[in-house]
Amino acid sequence: MNDGRQAQLAGNLARVRERIAIACAAAGRDPAEVTLIAVTKTYPADDVRLLAGLGVRQVAENRDQEAAAKADACADLPLSWHFVGQLQTNKVRSVVRYADHVHSVDRLRLVGALSGAATAADRELGCLIQVALDAGSGERGERGGVAPTEVGALADAIASADGLRLDGVMTVAPLAGPYAGQPRAAFDRLTEISSRLREAHPAANMVSAGMSQDLEQAVAAGATHVRVGTAVLGVRPRLR
Ligand SMILES: *Cc1c(COP(=O)(O)O)cnc(C)c1O
Repeated sequence: MNDGRQAQLAGNLARVRERIAIACAAAGRDPAEVTLIAVTKTYPADDVRLLAGLGVRQVAENRDQEAAAKADACADLPLSWHFVGQLQTNKVRSVVRYADHVHSVDRLRLVGALSGAATAADRELGCLIQVALDAGSGERGERGGVAPTEVGALADAIASADGLRLDGVMTVAPLAGPYAGQPRAAFDRLTEISSRLREAHPAANMVSAGMSQDLEQAVAAGATHVRVGTAVLGVRPRLR
């Protein structure tokens, strides 16, 4: 039974890696520049274990309760955990126990909470600023994220916070606004924001963009990390 699931995951992974390789070739990029993060939300720890056996080292989750249990069940595996969901400050203490990276940092209050929790846990947490490309100044995105105009201030706050390391930027292609249906344009915009960020913070070079449906566009635009769920694990039973 596990053998069947393992074969399925192996086939899916091979197809995703091939898609990344083809997109890299088309863009003149080295596939080693693009890291695949498997988004395992809604799938059991057994799947994470099978993926680890197939060479996956980066996994992502979007809900703390589910992620904490899975990370605990997989504590013996050589995995890095990425938290990619909207994050409430009351979940921060739990998240810093297992997460190596949080991709969804989008407000100063969250920076303060993450810094306090990371320091208390004696951990260094990698932070990516989630950019909402459809948000105007002072607004937050429908699915989280800070407006492009506020990335600089948030970056400075993260860079000077104890326990935090500024790693880069993340986005989800907007479903509404001028970028709706234009993932390539959205990811190009994120790359511009990343370039500007690196002028002040040269080490913050992660560009997290692209999911199952638009990973090619993300690779073409310069993403360093793609977050792929469905194409690796299958269609999730229900969106949560
Ligand atoms: C679920 C999720 C993904 C993966 O999406 P798929 O379309 O299943 O590949 C990527 N990023 C975030 C933030 C997610 O919540």
